[in-house]
Amino acid sequence: MHAIDYIAPKTIKEAVDAMAARGEQARALAGGTDLLVQLRGGRRTSELVVDVKDIPELNELSYDPRKGLTIGAAVPCYRIYQDQAVASAYPGLIDAATLIGSIQIQGRASIGGNLCNSAPSADAIPPIIALEGVANIAGPRGTRQVAVEEFCTGPGRNVLQPGEILVSIHLPPPRAHSGASYLRFIPRNEMDIAVAGVGSSIVLDGSGQNFVSARIALASVAPTPVFSRAAGESLAGKPVSEEAIEEAAQKAMADARPIDDMRGTIRQRVHLVGVLTRRTLNNAIKRARGE
Ligand SMILES: Cc1cc2nc3c(=O)[nH]c(=O)nc-3n(C[C@H](O)[C@H](O)[C@H](O)COP(=O)(O)OP(=O)(O)OC[C@H]3O[C@@H](n4cnc5c(N)ncnc54)[C@H](O)[C@@H]3O)c2cc1C
Repeated sequence: MHAIDYIAPKTIKEAVDAMAARGEQARALAGGTDLLVQLRGGRRTSELVVDVKDIPELNELSYDPRKGLTIGAAVPCYRIYQDQAVASAYPGLIDAATLIGSIQIQGRASIGGNLCNSAPSADAIPPIIALEGVANIAGPRGTRQVAVEEFCTGPGRNVLQPGEILVSIHLPPPRAHSGASYLRFIPRNEMDIAVAGVGSSIVLDGSGQNFVSARIALASVAPTPVFSRAAGESLAGKPVSEEAIEEAAQKAMADARPIDDMRGTIRQRVHLVGVLTRRTLNNAIKRARGE
């Protein structure tokens, strides 16, 4: 047992100053559903916990059909899926927000915490990558933006430098005839870590018969979430067809670099990426067509 200092600043500047003063020994606290478990289990140590839930910018949840969606880093999942405008504009994000943990976990767990915890299995990261999410970061040297596909650098590691906090995640407005979907495979119904997960986002043309563009991202099949750029790009300009979807699935499978562990084998995980890519693309197509 050792004492941990706790503060709950009211401004970004106070939080950044406190984090910068303690460097690697300071940790931000949002819902605590990862951090408290890790501190109690001894998997992380910290001298200072900076509770960011009292900072207004980190509690912002705002959607404008012309500007897009801003999700403050401390906004818990339930606020996102209970917001009707957000839920109907970003169903691919809601797929993840409604399956993280349980109702109780969703009352605390934030998408920002999911991103900053940077687990390869994090369920919210693939849909955010697929939806072109950008992380807004504040630190001692000011603010910066990082595309979410570049945020995670290894298991539990990311681009945040000592003193930096995630302020919010921004998603652009959904385009006309677009749809997205996230699915994961777990061996039971809930409360488990993804054996594999896939988030897909597509834009169709006005006829609904041709792909304009697509983005596909994978969970639990590499040391970080994977942006399978080749899989998405393979669909651009093609008619919606089983062949095009199969080609994208094959490219996503080729981008998976999983390991064997107690949850699944390499072979099973690569196979699952193919299955989930096909399913999420078909779900996204239905959503884009309003079916
Ligand atoms: C029972 C249970 C079930 C779970 N099920 C799932 C699941 O199905 N899918 C899934 O993906 N995850 C799951 N998780 C993990 C966890 O709930 C999620 O990762 C959650 O989204 C984390 O959010 P949080 O707000 O609780 O983060 P916290 O625990 O508060 O923080 C997580 C990490 O991010 C850092 N951090 C938080 N906010 C910031 C910030 N603003 N700036 C910089 N760093 C920050 C913290 O220092 C910490 O390292 C589960 C956890 C539990 C306990």
